[in-house]
Amino acid sequence: MKVDAAVLYGVGEPYKIEEIELDAPREREVLVELTASGLCHSDDHLVTGDVPLPGPMVAGHEGAGVVVDVGSQVTRVKQGDHVILHPVPSCGQCRWCVTGRANLCDLGAFALTGYAPDGTYRRHLKGEDIGAFCQLGTFSPYTTVSETQVVAIDADVPLEVAALIGCGVTTGVGAATKVGRVQPGDVVVVIGVGGVGTSAVQGARIAGASTIVAVEPGEYRRRRAAEFGATHSAASVEDATGLVRDLTHGVMADVVLITVGVMHGELLGQALALTSKGGRCVITSVAPLAETTAAVSLFDFAMSNKRLLGHVYGEANPQDDFRRLVDLYRSGALRLDEMITQEFTLAQINEGFAAMHAGTTVRGAIRYR
Ligand SMILES: [Zn+2]
Ligand SMILES: [Zn+2]
Repeated sequence: MKVDAAVLYGVGEPYKIEEIELDAPREREVLVELTASGLCHSDDHLVTGDVPLPGPMVAGHEGAGVVVDVGSQVTRVKQGDHVILHPVPSCGQCRWCVTGRANLCDLGAFALTGYAPDGTYRRHLKGEDIGAFCQLGTFSPYTTVSETQVVAIDADVPLEVAALIGCGVTTGVGAATKVGRVQPGDVVVVIGVGGVGTSAVQGARIAGASTIVAVEPGEYRRRRAAEFGATHSAASVEDATGLVRDLTHGVMADVVLITVGVMHGELLGQALALTSKGGRCVITSVAPLAETTAAVSLFDFAMSNKRLLGHVYGEANPQDDFRRLVDLYRSGALRLDEMITQEFTLAQINEGFAAMHAGTTVRGAIRYR
C-alpha cells in the first residue's frame, strides 16, 4: 500500500515527507494503523550522527494503534486488537527472553539496521529499499511489524497515551524501579526531565521516594517536573550537588538517574559525586558511539561502595510491564495525559523536534487520528 512517511536521508538533514510503498504483512507480521507516535530523543540520535544511520530510514519507534491485517501464522494478536509497539523485539525463545530479560532479546541487534532479521525490507521508495528504525518506523500512519514487537492492551486506554508506554515511559519508570530499585524513603536525583526523565520522576514517586530532585536547565520542564512528583529542582548538576548535600546532611542521594538527551563522559563523575555511599547511579541516556572516556574518582567509587548501572529500555519485559503501566495509568498513579504537551501532524515533524530541543515540551507527539 502507498502511505506517507517521514524519511531521514542523512545526518544533519531534516525529515522529508515521502509517499512510500509499504508491504503487506508476511507470515508472522501485522499491519498496524497508528493513532500516534511520540517524538523520542533516540530518533534524534540518528539525525545528529551519535548513532549510525545505515541509509534512508523511516524513523519513529514509540507508537500505538489498531491491528488491521495479520499474517497467516500470527498467534499473538488479531485484527482489531489495540496494540502498543515496542522498539526491542521479544522473540520469547532466546536465552535473554526465557530468563525474563526481553530488553536484551537477540533480535534487538536489528534495531539500527533498518531491515528485518531475515535481511529483507518492508518499505520501498522509488524502487529502492528503505529502512525502519527499530523495525517500527512509526513516523508513518501505517506500519508493518513483526508480531514479536506488539503487545495487545484493553481498548479503553486512549491509544495516543498508550503510545508513550512504547518507549519513554517504560524506559524511565524502569530506570527508577527496576534498575535503580528505588525504595520507600529514598532520596533520588533525576538529571534531565524530558519524556524519559519525567517518567523516571514518576517511577521514583510510585516506588515511594521521599525526596526527588529534578535537575534541568530549562525553566519550563523544571517547573512541570513538580507536577509529576519532583519535590525539589535545580538548574544544574552543580546546584543540585549543594542542594542534595544540604537536604541529606552530606550523605547524598540513594539513587541518581541520568536521563539527559545525550550522555557525555564528563557527566558521569558529577553524577557519581551526587551518589551516596552504597548508592546506585543509573545511566539511561545514549552517548555518541565514538565517545569512550569518562572522568571518575575511582578511589571514591570503590571505597564508597558505589554501584554504576547501565540499561537499555528500562529492563522491560513488554508482555508484563505494559499491563502494569496501563494499570498504573488507570489508577491515576502514572500521569500520561499530562505528559503529552504538544501534538503535531506528520508534516510538522521537524517543528516537533525543534520544540523538543527548545525544551518547550515534556513529550511531543505526532497525531494521526
Ligand atoms: Zn525512544
Ligand atoms: Zn529473544
